[in-house]
Amino acid sequence: MVQRARRAVVFTGAGISTECGIPDFRSPGGFWTRYKPIDYSEFLASEDTRIEAWRRFLMIRETIGKAEPGPSHRAVAQLAERGHVATVITQNIDGLHQASGIPAQRIIEIHGNGTYAKCLTCGLRHEIGWVKDTIEATGRPPRCTACGGIVKSATISFGQAMPEQEMADARAATLNADLFIAIGSSLQVFPAAGFPVLAKQNRTPMVILNREETGLDGLADLVIHADSGPVLCAVMDRIRAA
Ligand code: NAD
Repeated sequence: MVQRARRAVVFTGAGISTECGIPDFRSPGGFWTRYKPIDYSEFLASEDTRIEAWRRFLMIRETIGKAEPGPSHRAVAQLAERGHVATVITQNIDGLHQASGIPAQRIIEIHGNGTYAKCLTCGLRHEIGWVKDTIEATGRPPRCTACGGIVKSATISFGQAMPEQEMADARAATLNADLFIAIGSSLQVFPAAGFPVLAKQNRTPMVILNREETGLDGLADLVIHADSGPVLCAVMDRIRAA
């Protein structure tokens, strides 16, 4: 299926990055079983909550900041380079698809990016190092240096609106796909999990590669319950040998 594809979409979740040392969302020991996510409205509502949100973010960032692309990221990058995969839609915020060498314009981050921060009012980018220094120096959450607005990591929180352009781009890529491959996602987080559903409605062949059952296994043409790294390396071996 992969070999025939010329416009495949690879849709990734936290599971593709566990082999890089970043815990996923729902598995025991994952970030969110330890830290309940802070809702967007709570983040906006008080300085105390913002300080707590930043404290958790900076702790998670310690792990994410040190991670490097794993075998699965590298396999997807090779599939893109060989012209099988056109677009990667990712729920991840770790920037590892970019780090694996896939051009940024072929990656759609529907839950944002955790490697920098943004002003919620004027959109100005702020670096995480500056946020950390500001909190350490003042004990207060950072404010935008340009407009005084609230600064937040450039990720999409629970309760925060999905990014319009990225959602439109992901929809267009899904409708244009000749194969849809979901890797390392429990396919439980909507609206993100709506993309595999859309692909199927569009009669696009769909593959799900995930360690455990997902909410959408029944829709897929092929389901592989396994770790993504070894499976994708085997796929690459077959493609190279062909
Ligand atoms: P999820 O945690 O809900 O699901 C991850 C799935 O990956 C699980 O079903 C798990 O069994 C599977 N998995 C774990 N390791 C695997 C491996 N090596 N090979 C194959 N499958 C594996 O994650 P989700 O569906 O992406 O939703 C989580 C949300 O949390 C997303 O919105 C994402 O933004 C965020 N998140 C991101 C990161 C990251 O950027 N790396 C990490 C944690 C959470």
